[in-house]
Amino acid sequence: MTDPDLSITDYDTWVMDLDDTLYPPDNGLAEQMKAHIRDYLRAFYGTDEAGARRIQSDLMANHGTILRGLMVTRNIDPADFLAFERRIDYSALRSDPPLAEALSVLPGRKLVYTNGSAWHAEQTLSRLGLSEHFDGVFDILAGGLVPKPHPDSYARFVERYAIDPTRAMMFDDRSANLAVPSQLGMATVLVSGPAGSRPAPYELLGPRRWRTWDVVGLLRSLTGEALRPSTTQEAIHRTSSPSVSEATASTRKPRARPN
Ligand SMILES: [Mg+2]
Repeated sequence: MTDPDLSITDYDTWVMDLDDTLYPPDNGLAEQMKAHIRDYLRAFYGTDEAGARRIQSDLMANHGTILRGLMVTRNIDPADFLAFERRIDYSALRSDPPLAEALSVLPGRKLVYTNGSAWHAEQTLSRLGLSEHFDGVFDILAGGLVPKPHPDSYARFVERYAIDPTRAMMFDDRSANLAVPSQLGMATVLVSGPAGSRPAPYELLGPRRWRTWDVVGLLRSLTGEALRPSTTQEAIHRTSSPSVSEATASTRKPRARPN
């Protein structure tokens, strides 16, 4: 379990994807968002549910996000598309005190980097009880409506926050979103698998590349709290709590620190 690259002093910037990274993907929020997007596609293309699903899949595969695909292929107004977020029911999201605590003891900046909107990120972080633990939210608007994994999105992100990639660690549930960060020199963590599903909180995939199924457990390892996964009770809590999908960006006020 000892990993010389997994030393907290090596990092001053922590980059977290939002949806399916800061909350598990099993609370129905992602499905809810996909359904709202299909509503939009049905109306826009005048198609049925099967047609909307096909278009949704094609746009995602070819452009990374539905929004990007619609902008490139149909020149839509992003605001019209993003209006679906206002219809999301966020009640499935619950606060996550173990994650809040793990984040609170990380030194340096903590940033959310999402393909969704800042508005969606704010709703999500608030529900999760994590709002005060992040110093900024970089959303799809901040990225010039160019989403991860396009290299231009990362270039804007790194410039916006003057990030030294060699001192940054990025977490994301999509491996495709971690390829460019890795090339830039960031340490990366692929968030994949149900929390608490294995005895160790993470595994090494390659040089400065990890995979975890327990973000809290990995953060605890970094902060030296103990090389142990989060407890079963916490794992159950996390598995049954929150979830959403990708949102937007904006700069948030620096979080208040007790001291
Ligand atoms: Mg995600």
